Parts: sequence; C-alpha cells; structure tokens
Amino acid sequence: MILVLFGPPGAGKGTQTNLLAEHFNIPQLSTGDMFRAAIKNQTPVGVKVKAVLDDGNLVSDDLVNELVVEELKNTRFDNGFILDGYPRTVVQSSFISDWAAENNRPIYGIVSLVVERDELVKRILSRGQGRADDTEEAIEKRLAVYKKETAPVLNYFAESGLIKEIDGIGSVKNIFDRITKAISA
Ligand code: AMP
Repeated sequence: MILVLFGPPGAGKGTQTNLLAEHFNIPQLSTGDMFRAAIKNQTPVGVKVKAVLDDGNLVSDDLVNELVVEELKNTRFDNGFILDGYPRTVVQSSFISDWAAENNRPIYGIVSLVVERDELVKRILSRGQGRADDTEEAIEKRLAVYKKETAPVLNYFAESGLIKEIDGIGSVKNIFDRITKAISA
C-alpha cells in the first residue's frame, strides 16, 4: 500500500505518518527527515540544501525526485510505504504519478490534513523541536511556499478520487482514527 500524507507545515503529517507506518507495518519516506539527516551528516546533498531548508524554501524538484526514486529502489519499500512531505509541487506530483504507473504500483490514497493557518503557526512555535526552520520568519516563508507551490498538488489529484480530506484538529489519537477510517472506507 502506498499512502501519501499531505498538508501544510505543522498539520501533523510527521506524527501521523509515524503512527500509520507502525499500524500498517510499512516504512515511511519523509523527505524533510532525509534532508535534515543529510545536513547533520554534512553529505554533499546536505551541504547543498542547508541554506534552502533554513530559509523555508523548497529544494529543487529535480534533486528531490532523484533522491526519492533512488531511495525507493531499496527492497524494504517493496511492500508499500508512506510518503511524508512528498510530493510537494505539481512537478513532483506528476513525477511520482508517472513512477507509480511505470512500476505498476498505484497510489492507494492521499490523506490531506486540514488545519487552519493560526493553529499551524501556534503548533510549530510550540513544538520546540529545535528545527532551524521553526523561526517566525521561516514559518511565514514555509506557509507562503505551501500556498503557492504545494496547495496546487490538491488540484493536480482532484479528479483522481485519491484525496481523503481529514480534519486535522483534535487529539493525535482522534486524528489517527479518522485517517484509518477514511482509508478503509
Ligand atoms: P518537512 O520536514 O516536510 O517540513 O520539510 C522540511 C524542509 O525540507 C522543507 O521546508 C523543504 O525545504 C525541504 N523539503 C522537504 N520535502 C521536500 C520536497 N518534497 N520538495 C522540496 N523540498 C522539500
């Protein structure tokens, strides 16, 4: 099963991805985690993307797409996986849709977590993960980038019937229950 967790920064994608990965016993691929690890380990990719992440901008589609397909060659993804933070642009959406078709591995569903803007800012500022891009300035940037580059992903998939819109307000457990219910429906 291939699932996509979609939503603005602070919507709870990472938290719900962790829970779903455990529940369905499939691995997750979180592009944000991948970049943070690369930065921490000072790999060539990490050195290249550090300023981009710090500023709240998006890494180029070509680089993200390339890293994702390389990663997906790993056999541990053969029984399904959850994408967290990818696809994040229309170009990425089209790329992963083509990959899915070519590899005969259809996307099962796109969980779209809906949380209003004020709540997002509040959550990010209070989660205190010490992320370099959790400053007020970078959050504004990330929300603006979401609106301009990422929200159109929903239009891209609008007619696919894959999108499950989930109210992202409530306890972690409640939201998780909403997701699993929507997926199995
Ligand atoms: P996240 O942890 O998903 O919020 O991602 C943190 C940062 O990593 C983003 O603000 C981007 O700079 C970068 N990033 C993560 N995923 C992507 C993606 N799919 N496309 C472009 N940049 C990404």
